[in-house]
Amino acid sequence: MRENKEKTIEFNKKISELYKGTEVSECLWNEDCSGKIVKAHSIQNNRYLSKISDNGKIINFGPAITENNELLWQIKEIGRSSFSTFKGFCGEHDKVLFQEIEDKDYIKTKEQNFLFAFRALAKELHAKKESINRNKKIFENLKKECDLFIYIYYPDYLKCLFNQEYLYKFQCKEDALEILENDKLTLKLLKLEFEDLKEKIKNKTYNGIHSFVIEFDKEYPVVSNSTFIPYQNSKFENIFTKEEYDKIQKGSLNPMIFSNIFPASGKTFIILSCLEKDRIYLEKFFKDFSGTIEDKKKNISMMILRNSENTAFSPKYIQEKFSEKEKEMIEELFAENMADTMHYSINLFRD
Ligand SMILES: [Zn+2]
Repeated sequence: MRENKEKTIEFNKKISELYKGTEVSECLWNEDCSGKIVKAHSIQNNRYLSKISDNGKIINFGPAITENNELLWQIKEIGRSSFSTFKGFCGEHDKVLFQEIEDKDYIKTKEQNFLFAFRALAKELHAKKESINRNKKIFENLKKECDLFIYIYYPDYLKCLFNQEYLYKFQCKEDALEILENDKLTLKLLKLEFEDLKEKIKNKTYNGIHSFVIEFDKEYPVVSNSTFIPYQNSKFENIFTKEEYDKIQKGSLNPMIFSNIFPASGKTFIILSCLEKDRIYLEKFFKDFSGTIEDKKKNISMMILRNSENTAFSPKYIQEKFSEKEKEMIEELFAENMADTMHYSINLFRD
């Protein structure tokens, strides 16, 4: 089913109306910081995004609405400067904190791996604050916005929670309120974790993060930065036990993966990190990336498509290396119609 452009425009308009007044703009480093807040790129614009852009454009996934009001995710071309920014630091703190990864080549130091994960966590903390604001606003208007509600939530919950049953439940106000409460608990956890990592930066110890780095011997024009809870591995096996899963749903356990992917120095790096204390829950996830190079490429591709909306490709690369049919497959995999997509996979790293 293809996009109805007018409906997509209408949808985007409604989204921005709804998001109005819910934006968070603050320096997470220090509540009292009075520095000017900047739009920080979660993926370094000059270092990596510039590398994959063609005439200032990149490809990523954007929402599209069909004639029947269904939401799709489509591969779309956008300007690279509008890709994945967040207002979570003032200009000065953003510069000072991330110098080691902004201004220097990536050479896999403990500090660099730590900072990549720290920035992903900061972005997640910022996103959680905004999402709570949005939820509050939406819940206040729940009845009249019911249809729209599904659309609004689709992006946030798509990755791990989307299925028909869940969406159905989600339309009840009590469930919605419960989700808001759980989000608040998760926010508390995120704040504690953020403060903990902040101390480590101040002390220059850079402990507390476990990072697993994978390298491909070629620069693929793919960049990605995201934070997610990996519910299943590449074989669709559950990562967590029932008890762990319940705790995650209730917001009292938050075993996140921070993934950073970028081409540099003739290679492509994939940094997969988690908090050291969560490593025990994530062994099954990390095991997915211990096979041959081909296995790794396939499993990382699936990981991206299932968890990372914050991913960009070079337009030329997508044009040259993927057929129309494959592009559709990528979109479908990204939208995670699990039942339909269980039987195929795709490699995003092509020579
Ligand atoms: Zn600041």
